[in-house]
Amino acid sequence: MKVLVIGGGGREHALVWKLRQSPRVTEVFCAPGNGGISDEARCFPVEQKSVNSMVALANQLRPDLTIIGPELPLQLGVVDEFARRGWPVFGPTKAAAQLETSKSFAKEFMQRHRIPTAHYAICTSGAEVKDALSRFSAPVVVKADGLAAGKGVVMCQTRDEATVAAAEMLSGKMVGEAGARVVIEECLQGDEISFLVLSDGERVAALVAAQDHKRAGDGDTGPNTGGMGAYSFPALLDEQMTQWLLHHVAQPVVDGMKAEGAEYKGILYCGLMMTPRGPMVLEFNCRFGDPETQAVLMRLDSDLLEALEAAVEGRVSNGIFKWSKDASCCVVVASGGYPGAFLSGKQITGLDRVAHVPDVKIFHAGTSKRDGNYYTSGGRVLGVTARAPRLKDAIAKAYAAVAQISFEDMYYRKDIGARALKSK
Ligand code: AMP
Repeated sequence: MKVLVIGGGGREHALVWKLRQSPRVTEVFCAPGNGGISDEARCFPVEQKSVNSMVALANQLRPDLTIIGPELPLQLGVVDEFARRGWPVFGPTKAAAQLETSKSFAKEFMQRHRIPTAHYAICTSGAEVKDALSRFSAPVVVKADGLAAGKGVVMCQTRDEATVAAAEMLSGKMVGEAGARVVIEECLQGDEISFLVLSDGERVAALVAAQDHKRAGDGDTGPNTGGMGAYSFPALLDEQMTQWLLHHVAQPVVDGMKAEGAEYKGILYCGLMMTPRGPMVLEFNCRFGDPETQAVLMRLDSDLLEALEAAVEGRVSNGIFKWSKDASCCVVVASGGYPGAFLSGKQITGLDRVAHVPDVKIFHAGTSKRDGNYYTSGGRVLGVTARAPRLKDAIAKAYAAVAQISFEDMYYRKDIGARALKSK
């Protein structure tokens, strides 16, 4: 089988790496891919903002299955276009992807289907914001409705701060069109967890849970990023809680979307806060998370292709995934300055020293390759991922590998997974 993966980050490298392990996969293509992915898949340029560009590429390559990594092509309706042509494709349609692409849609949907989430108000003007804020006590969270690459959520300590944040969003200054509508939300307290399920439109199967680290600095300080690291281990979510989340969150979402005429097929990522009132949904993503996918797939012992195909063909079952009891840890190595301004084009050394270390895999995110050398080409550069029977050892292994790698201005958090070790 020929498989095409759309995207070019660490998540897509992890997907390519795992798909290549399937005995049924004969060839993996990736578009656009990156320096590291090009060692494992044939890469092709593609315009991810253009459905036509992706359709043209698939028309040329004729893959037996296309897997959409990032959210933007889903929002643009690439799955709808592939499905219209009868081409097998993994991911939700444009209508189903609204669970991620519109926070107001997701909140109203959760309310209609009694899925636990924070109290909220949806506003489209300063007057509505003022009125809504009178009903919330500080701290309060202000969110842009649309896709904003992690920049659309502001935690506000006072109502005045919230008024300013909402005004900046509504004016288009902060995140453009994505802020034309805002969601005001009560601020929840608790541990965050990423709970992912695979859905075929009717049935769901849980993946193992992961925890990511969104803030740039150690001790969860500094600005929000796309994610600075993630880890996963069996005790993160026990079987009882997994069942609860399947019955009270994942299955009701899939049933609700079907009832509303927008069948949800693909990965449903539920970002949860484990509050004293019980688990509450912070957000949905309609695709694999990055860097959670790197940590999660490191623990997958079964065939990823089989699972993704089962979702496309409507035969997801409980036993579709076989998970290792090992722990995993992914440390994101970034360009200094990220998520702000950073320089690219720095040569990366030391990758060959860790290329063959057992249970360590370097997923490339922002790299390019020239004359056999790798160079930085993005904010998040590498996802250094390791697996071991105990979380402590997975973390140590990942950091030992990071220590072998270097490039100018290289930056990474030193405390990925540390909180989980402390709480044990
Ligand atoms: P979101 O994109 O909605 O997941 O928000 C990004 C991050 O903001 C989350 O991972 C949380 O850390 C934080 N956050 C979002 N909503 C809330 C909330 N209602 N209460 C507390 N923290 C939140």
